[in-house]
Amino acid sequence: MPETIMLPLTHIAAIAVEKAYRKGEHHIPVLRGVDIEVRRGEFVSIVGQSGSGKSTLLHLLGLLDGPDVGEVKLYGHRIDDLPARSRDELRNRVFGFIFQFYHLLPELSVLENVLAPLMIRHSTWQYWKNRGAFGDQAKDMLQKVGLGHRLTHKPSELSGGEMQRAAIARALMGNPEVLLADEPTGNLDADTGREIMDLLTSLNGQNELTIIMVTHDEAIAKCAHRIVRLAEGRLEAWGAAA
Ligand code: ADP
Ligand code: MG
Repeated sequence: MPETIMLPLTHIAAIAVEKAYRKGEHHIPVLRGVDIEVRRGEFVSIVGQSGSGKSTLLHLLGLLDGPDVGEVKLYGHRIDDLPARSRDELRNRVFGFIFQFYHLLPELSVLENVLAPLMIRHSTWQYWKNRGAFGDQAKDMLQKVGLGHRLTHKPSELSGGEMQRAAIARALMGNPEVLLADEPTGNLDADTGREIMDLLTSLNGQNELTIIMVTHDEAIAKCAHRIVRLAEGRLEAWGAAA
């Protein structure tokens, strides 16, 4: 009997993507024809010098911005040219984002920060009706990222690593398929950075969560299955991941 061949399934892809910014009179090309294909459940690191366009590429993949030229595809279907409402809907449903500076709301507790995306996504009535289930879901998620004991703390009462854990819990609340992480350890010391990477690696392994992470830290990049490097507006395979 022939073995079943599992074809690698491309989850998210950028094809021949170009992006430039305008600064006064100047036209600054940032991405000059970037191709990337990421398989379902894959963990990819994108490295490159500061200013090389890593964040720009991540924003295009997550529909936070659109390319000038080229396409972004989800499971082979073009998504960057959809109407704004469909893009908003896809962004909320498919992608989770985490950033270097966490972007937690300072006035809200950890639990409220994690619930905030659900408050925004649902009508007041829907949210109120489901508040018990949503609260349980948020507490479970905080437990999972190791913050079960910090529910009522404000962000200012947390360490950097704890703030990033809260941001990860918040990003996971909508059950995203793809986690886009922009320098998630950029503001953390090496040990705490490694703990956050352990958490991301475990989420990737448990849930087939596709992760695309931008970092300028080579040691951190090696936690991924594969590393690509952005240089002079193009992507190249780079080094070997662990
Ligand atoms: P990286 O994340 O690799 O540091 P970025 O994608 O943030 O790089 O930026 C790439 C280049 O594009 C930089 O030169 C930056 O100044 C420029 N840039 C980024 N965003 C904008 C913007 N909104 N307007 C103008 N220039 C921008
Ligand atoms: Mg950046």
